[in-house]
Formats: sequence, C-alpha cells, structure tokens
Amino acid sequence: MSARPVNIILPLLDKVAQLRDGSWMALCPAHDDRNASLHVTELADGRVIFHCYAGCGGADVVEALGLRFGDLKPDGLDHTGPTPVERDARKSLQAVAHAALVTVTLLNTVAAGKVVSEKQSDLAGRLAVEIQQALDAAGVKPVSERRARG
Ligand SMILES: [Zn+2]
Repeated sequence: MSARPVNIILPLLDKVAQLRDGSWMALCPAHDDRNASLHVTELADGRVIFHCYAGCGGADVVEALGLRFGDLKPDGLDHTGPTPVERDARKSLQAVAHAALVTVTLLNTVAAGKVVSEKQSDLAGRLAVEIQQALDAAGVKPVSERRARG
C-alpha cells in the first residue's frame, strides 16, 4: 500500500478543517486567503484534487505548495509508461502489422509473376506462428475453431 498523498498535502496547508471523509477546507496558498476558500478532496483511488472558491487554478495551488501534479497521485497511479498488459498488446499489434506488411509484399511479388523466395516464405511462416502464440497467450481460440463450433 503506497502512502496517501493527502497525508503529505494536508500538513502543508493552514486552517485545515475536515468536512467529512475525504473532504477538507483550508486556506488557499495561491492567493491572500482569510476564509479557507480551498476545498481539498481525496478521491476513492487516493488522488487529491483542489478547488479554490476564489478562482485559483489547480496548477496555482500545486505550485504554491511547492508540489508537482504527480505528487497528487498515489505511487501506483503515477506510472508514465505502459503497463505489462499494454506492452504485450503493443508487441502483438506490431507483430500483426509486420505480418500484414509481409503478406502484402508477398502478394505483390506473386502478382508481378515473380517467385516468392524461401526467405520471404520463412518470414511469413514465423510471423503466423508469432501471432498464433500471442492469441494462445491471450486465451483466444483460432478463427477456424470458432467457425466450426458456430
Ligand atoms: Zn485561491
């Protein structure tokens, strides 16, 4: 369990008053505030959002606190790169795109009346196997099997 950003943010604010679970009012650090105009909300996923009733933007509040927007999110949500599932999906899509390109090249070769080389043929076969392995890993049944059942 990562640290809750709200536990870092609330001590930075003045005149903090809790309204209810996940909801506080405090003096806005981004303007000369005397009436606790800043509403702080902790969302269910741990993210913190600010709303200043005097009209300051969220970026102004974050900057006045000396924070960055990433500090408003729990560590688990603060990823910038793709997740493992997204990486796998991208790899699979790249393999499919490559296979489509190879297929078009082979079709053009045949259409031009030329012979498909052994190397080209091997590459097409390898890509077909790669796509099949990706489908297996994703638990997707081959198209022919699905047709047979339907
Ligand atoms: Zn303000």
